[in-house]
Amino acid sequence: MNVLVLNCGSSSVKFQLIATDLDLIAQDADRKLARGVIERIGGEAIITFQAEGQPAQRFTAPVRDHRAAVEQIIRWACAPESNVSEIHSVGDINAVGHRVVHGGERFTQSVIITDEVLRGIEDCIDLAPLHNPANIRGIIAARESLGPGVPQVAVFDTAFHQTLPEHAYLYAIPYQLYRRHRIRRYGFHGTSHRYVAYRYRTLRGIAREETNVISLHLGNGCSATAIKRGQSLDTSMGLTPLEGLVMGTRSGDIDPAIVDFLAAKEGLTTQEVEMLLNKQSGLLGISGLTNDMRELLDEAREHNDRRARLAIEIFCYRARKYIGAYLAAVGGADAVIFTGGIGENSPEIRARICEGLEWFGLELDPEKNAAHKNGREGLISRDGAKLAAYVIPTDEELLIARDTVRCVRAAMERTGAPKPA
Ligand code: AMP
Repeated sequence: MNVLVLNCGSSSVKFQLIATDLDLIAQDADRKLARGVIERIGGEAIITFQAEGQPAQRFTAPVRDHRAAVEQIIRWACAPESNVSEIHSVGDINAVGHRVVHGGERFTQSVIITDEVLRGIEDCIDLAPLHNPANIRGIIAARESLGPGVPQVAVFDTAFHQTLPEHAYLYAIPYQLYRRHRIRRYGFHGTSHRYVAYRYRTLRGIAREETNVISLHLGNGCSATAIKRGQSLDTSMGLTPLEGLVMGTRSGDIDPAIVDFLAAKEGLTTQEVEMLLNKQSGLLGISGLTNDMRELLDEAREHNDRRARLAIEIFCYRARKYIGAYLAAVGGADAVIFTGGIGENSPEIRARICEGLEWFGLELDPEKNAAHKNGREGLISRDGAKLAAYVIPTDEELLIARDTVRCVRAAMERTGAPKPA
């Protein structure tokens, strides 16, 4: 089955085309056919398309809205000169999988998108006002472009964390506020944490129930998850993706009283303070230079820039604190997993996060740590370390494609519908 995976942001659409099916999943033999992104939708868009094994094409063109973006992607994928293997006409796209940011408490797993599901995603707009509307636009655009006969599946960033126990997801604020407004920890990056936990147990050859790990997704957005018996037990992002670790431009944890204090001192509205905490804080806010970890490491190395060094130190210290907290929450874990742009590519940051964790039995192997970047997966701790460390490059798109196939095949079993190629 050829699955179009869509990740729709407010002004961008990222996609991959992936050939997968139940037998291919079992053999871990899914095939990536193409990928790309359309950015700056609404004006002169920047478009990058790449068929597997071909050079990337980059160009600009006016793209009015998400519908036009999805149509452009499909038209490109089907054109013979694009050389996307297995895709020759619209009929070769058998299903669409969507990344949906917020599924609230209602969606605990991936689902086929019906009108009722779409209303459920709309009901979560309150909780993700920037993200869910864009995801909905993507779903409607795909339905209009491919027709109602092509099944679409929603894969939620929040779903993996719906196993959190009450004591981990409730904030200690008046309980009726949870009842009235559903204020609680939801967590995000769920597809990424779930994927690396799956890869870890595949690498180790162990069962899901034996998977006790702490995963650190360190990219522009960052989150930590405590995984016990293969399920999310606690996670650092909360009601929104602002809580937890230090991120590129987000503060992560702060004293909530700072919001009011800042509003009064700086003459800001609470919305403006929230914007400041989301867009001008984190690595960017501390360094005053950039939200890009690579640039910060260069600044620290080449110019010994004090605030670049400080930003890196605060980032690593916060991550280390979360590892300690989650080791306590899980009751001892077997491994720490690094993923995301920083986690996958920066031996230096991984080493600094792990400094002082020898007490827990975690000792990195410097050679292995240095060798794991640019997509290389594997163990980076010393052989026999009580607490192991792994680098596992994330692949949310693959998981979305696989969930899409599973949902579509299960629906076919139920209804006895004819199976597509
Ligand atoms: P992501 O959001 O997962 O794409 O990650 C983006 C972040 O990864 C940015 O802060 C990049 O600077 C960082 N990153 C990518 N490659 C490296 C690298 N080799 N060393 C340090 N940070 C990196």
